[in-house]
Amino acid sequence: MTTSKSAHAAIALFSGGLDSILAVKWMQSRGYKVYPVYFLTPYMPADRAIQSAAENGIQLIVRDISTEHLAMMQNPVYGFGKHLNPCVDCHALMFKIAGDLMADLDADYLISGEVLGQRPMSQRRDAMNLVGKLSGYKDLLIRPLSQQLLNDTLPIRESWIDKDDMLDIHGRGRSRQMELASELGIVSYPAPAGGCLLTDRNFALRLRDLIEHDELDDENLELIRYGRHYRLDARCKLIVGRDEADNDKLEAACKTGLKLHARDIFGPLGIITCPQPSEETLRLALDIFWYYHKKGEDTGSVILSSPEGKTDHRATKLELANIKEYHISYD
Ligand code: SF4
Repeated sequence: MTTSKSAHAAIALFSGGLDSILAVKWMQSRGYKVYPVYFLTPYMPADRAIQSAAENGIQLIVRDISTEHLAMMQNPVYGFGKHLNPCVDCHALMFKIAGDLMADLDADYLISGEVLGQRPMSQRRDAMNLVGKLSGYKDLLIRPLSQQLLNDTLPIRESWIDKDDMLDIHGRGRSRQMELASELGIVSYPAPAGGCLLTDRNFALRLRDLIEHDELDDENLELIRYGRHYRLDARCKLIVGRDEADNDKLEAACKTGLKLHARDIFGPLGIITCPQPSEETLRLALDIFWYYHKKGEDTGSVILSSPEGKTDHRATKLELANIKEYHISYD
């Protein structure tokens, strides 16, 4: 059967990982037109995908879908994985948004680097079907790395693409992907782990705490990426930077909270996330904060900075055993 490969274009979901690079490069190597799109969320470091695309000569379109993703996180149809990762709903949402983009980009179908049987939650055959159904674009989805093993969809039935161009990779092994990478001249790609923060158990715990306290907004989502977090009361958290990099990120992300610094010695940045803590909550925050000044005496002076100005407070180190009660962490 003949195909006119250039007549129909695909939008590719691009994550920056090896499988998505392979899907794009493989299709391009067979003569198909592909628009790779990276969807920005608060849980995935975009620089990883952008760098990976640049190193592999892939022209990337970046779209921020944080608002849609946050809305989905409130009530995912297929629930969460081991931590707070709603992978089926997340993939479906990305396919849906990519599908809605087709008219703008003059594209006709969607591809991804999913590999049948590679991931327990989102890449089983039944889960892949659910993703397709939930996205509303089931009949336009092509997974080039595994499509030989999947049901034919419209792009194949209509001969927009040739099924012989599709591959039959499946399972958790990576050897076929490595061979293909070498065949396609792909030398640079990130390690498989370390992508989505929703699969990190401590991040998931901090995110769950935000959801439970109805504090899910852009500022809090940025803040939970850095430092140690302590739930002080229903409205207030304390965050303490772990190192200089954390302190810088927290300083930049904090728009509405109160900032804490030791007055006389070097130490971390502290943030109280509510603008008007009760006296009891402020005392607790100061005493936990002061614990992280190893070189300080048992009591010390802390400067609290708020939009109204700076005030000086005494703090007394709390015992670690007491601090743990407030720490939002499995460790
Ligand atoms: S790992 Fe994260 S980004 Fe990937 S599908 Fe799951 S929730 Fe979405």
